[in-house]
Amino acid sequence: MIDRRLTFALVTTVIPVITLFASLAAEILFSKNQKFFESIKQFKSGFDFVYFILFSIIVFVLSYTFSPILDNQDKNQAGSILILIFFIVFFYGLGPLLYPIVILFRSSRYEEYKDMEKIIQVEMNYAVKVRIVNRELINAFATGILPFSKIILIGMPLLTDLTNDELKAVIAHELGHTKKHHLFYLMLIMIVIQIIIMIIYNHMLLPFFLLHKFGWLVKGITFGLLLVISNEILGFFQRKMEYDADKFAAKIVGKNSIKKALEKLNKITGGKLQVKSISHPTLEQRLLSIEESFSNE
Ligand SMILES: [Zn+2]
Repeated sequence: MIDRRLTFALVTTVIPVITLFASLAAEILFSKNQKFFESIKQFKSGFDFVYFILFSIIVFVLSYTFSPILDNQDKNQAGSILILIFFIVFFYGLGPLLYPIVILFRSSRYEEYKDMEKIIQVEMNYAVKVRIVNRELINAFATGILPFSKIILIGMPLLTDLTNDELKAVIAHELGHTKKHHLFYLMLIMIVIQIIIMIIYNHMLLPFFLLHKFGWLVKGITFGLLLVISNEILGFFQRKMEYDADKFAAKIVGKNSIKKALEKLNKITGGKLQVKSISHPTLEQRLLSIEESFSNE
């Protein structure tokens, strides 16, 4: 028999793997306009094996180390809150904390883009690190929570598929996420949601589970449901932040530039921006929001 501590550490390490495959499955399922192999290809381009292994090792070591404290989560509230903060740090905090370090040390995969950094500095008056992801990744994103680790990543195909103005608009959107500390706020929101859920769970649901014969099963399902709900709430804030980043970009590069860039990005991704997702509003909603925000001023 494997001991409890090791089992716990293994389970928490496997959860990110399951999450990863679930997100791939969701991507394939919901991107109707996209071809199956195209989805896999995009997924593979975004996947960084070195980061993933490093992430898994850290999760395992942390889980194993903190297992004794987390083990009595049902006995007291402090323990329950601790276990959730633990998971949040794994899935929402560890990414933006660990990923920039991997990026900065892997210059062959994440190439420096000094010219663009200079353009941002001169034209937009912001200092930020920009790296080109040396893969067929048709996307751009911002990472990093700590001030020195904030990086904007651009997939290689965007350099050729987008015009200079469109590229600047896409970067201005990502800069919006960075400058408005969106990743940090998302982590904070997640922690607050989880603490509220934990209080409800401990005070209202747990007494029932302890009395019931199949309490552990109901407990597992309820726990899963609560996580789904918290994901929905997080998605709500993520969508708000997308609108916010679009507006930020519109102020810098002009509303027509960001609108054109979003439309082009949608075209080259095979209509991906039109697909409804939990974390992003649809292209139509975003274009409308940009238009509205400027008609009010
Ligand atoms: Zn965004």
